[in-house]
Amino acid sequence: MHDVIIIGGGAAGLSAAVFTARAGRSTLVLDEGNSILRWAWLDNYLGFEEGIAGEDLRQSGFRQAERAGAQVVRARVTGIERVADGFLVRTEAGDFEGRVLLLATGLAVGLAAALGVAVVPGREPKMGEVYRVDADGRTGVPGVWAAGVAAGTTSHAIVAAGDGARVAVNLLSEWAGKRHVDHEVPRPARAEG
Ligand SMILES: Cc1cc2nc3c(=O)[nH]c(=O)nc-3n(C[C@H](O)[C@H](O)[C@H](O)COP(=O)(O)OP(=O)(O)OC[C@H]3O[C@@H](n4cnc5c(N)ncnc54)[C@H](O)[C@@H]3O)c2cc1C
Repeated sequence: MHDVIIIGGGAAGLSAAVFTARAGRSTLVLDEGNSILRWAWLDNYLGFEEGIAGEDLRQSGFRQAERAGAQVVRARVTGIERVADGFLVRTEAGDFEGRVLLLATGLAVGLAAALGVAVVPGREPKMGEVYRVDADGRTGVPGVWAAGVAAGTTSHAIVAAGDGARVAVNLLSEWAGKRHVDHEVPRPARAEG
């Protein structure tokens, strides 16, 4: 039983995974590999002065999430069922259980129906429906959160990544009963270098 299963390994899902895994929460990312990032060249992602290919950012995100302790399984989610303590998620690579789901599925919101999650028309250009979420990222279904383009952010990688982090912090805060903070200071060797 994972603490959180994040469905979607794009900007939002991988960013969320870094936060939940770094907080010591067992984190599983399930991704079928159709991130919008694959088509993007990013000149507007802070920190990359000369731009970065979306695919390079995505692969780096997988490595960072795994280094933080997340497990990544490259597989399509085909079904979801409620079980006593959370959710059973069926994929092409087997079944997984998680207490909480975080939907970061980009342009695809087809999983909403299986979960009873409400969708609303997206307001951004070329967006179809998006999951309906509250200000913290909760859908109306207990235990199901959503982030990124699928939750209605503007379609910009840094905004989606930031939203994944934001929703993860809100989830971690709910679990802890106090606001979660993930801050580091420079390690001495780095600071001197
Ligand atoms: C041509 C193009 C150019 C762009 N250029 C820029 C740019 O210059 N700057 C910028 O900031 N943004 C740009 N973008 C937008 C940017 O790529 C997106 O805003 C960003 O990728 C959204 O992140 P996300 O995590 O919400 O969704 P995504 O990155 O799409 O991630 C969603 C992930 O969920 C997975 N998924 C969905 N359903 C399932 C399922 N059932 N099972 C398993 N996995 C599933 C998908 O396969 C995908 O990997 C561009 C987009 C396009 C198309």
